[in-house]
Amino acid sequence: MFCQRCGTELRETDLDSRPRLKCPACGYVQYQNPVPGVGVLIEHEGRLVLIRRGHPPHQGQWTLPSGFIEADESVEHAAVREAREETGLNIALDELFGVYSFPEGPPRSGLIIFYRAHPTNPADLRAGDDASEAAFFSATELPVIAFRTHREVLARWLLERQEPGAAAAGAQHQPDVTVRPAEPRDHYRIVELMSHMPAQTRMSDIARARATARLRDSSALEVFVAESAEYQAASQWTAIIGFVAVSLLEGLNETRAWLDAMVVEPEYRRRGVGGALFDIGTRRARERGASQLLLDFTRASPSAQEFYRSIGFDGSEVSRIRLR
Ligand SMILES: [Zn+2]
Repeated sequence: MFCQRCGTELRETDLDSRPRLKCPACGYVQYQNPVPGVGVLIEHEGRLVLIRRGHPPHQGQWTLPSGFIEADESVEHAAVREAREETGLNIALDELFGVYSFPEGPPRSGLIIFYRAHPTNPADLRAGDDASEAAFFSATELPVIAFRTHREVLARWLLERQEPGAAAAGAQHQPDVTVRPAEPRDHYRIVELMSHMPAQTRMSDIARARATARLRDSSALEVFVAESAEYQAASQWTAIIGFVAVSLLEGLNETRAWLDAMVVEPEYRRRGVGGALFDIGTRRARERGASQLLLDFTRASPSAQEFYRSIGFDGSEVSRIRLR
């Protein structure tokens, strides 16, 4: 990497207790910050506009209309522009809905600001830009949604429709979950979480030692953990509430990924944690060249099976989804 100011090769330097790239000639520091985006909940007669994504990532899945904010526009302007580009609707913004972070990607770290809005031309709804479809959905007919942040927004929207005011309370109790690559100090906790898997409820000491050794030594394993400060405060010792482990299988003419294990502490299920772990695990598998992701469906618990179906696995004994 070269300095974008003077062209000198950047050097890794310890700054603010983090490794950062710094220019030895002019002092320029290449900071890595989240990219800001905007999303809209466009409501009309109790229904919400969703678009089906026409391009990767998550091609073919539904999301709220959203996009990145350009340098020369305000966040409100970006919301109105994205709505028009993706849905053909002219919208009036009603209120700020919430701000959500996605440090885990995809693929870059970002934050997204959601607004509530209503269309002034609801009859003109049509898919535009990179959307392949656009439609109004009622609360009872919502499809599978790509992206953890959008799922959390929809969960809050549904909650608020049931009991007004609940959404505000829900917003205060959003789990502060972040996802990062696993480190050696996490291995003990990961093996402990494995006991939540139906096939592993009585792991022997030998099985635990073997799992720990694989976590330490295997370059074919990609492991990520989800952390919550709230959980750390309650448990007094660990922030880790879940993990995902993906194995890479290099075949003769194709690399496949195997979803080895995904575990989330029971009280953190249905809060988007599994989705965040799944998103980062599949992203890493794709980066390492995997063309498909396989899963042994028979080893998953009923609630895990329900989750896997909701993200696109078909439920056959060895289920697969294509990654590219
Ligand atoms: Zn420089």
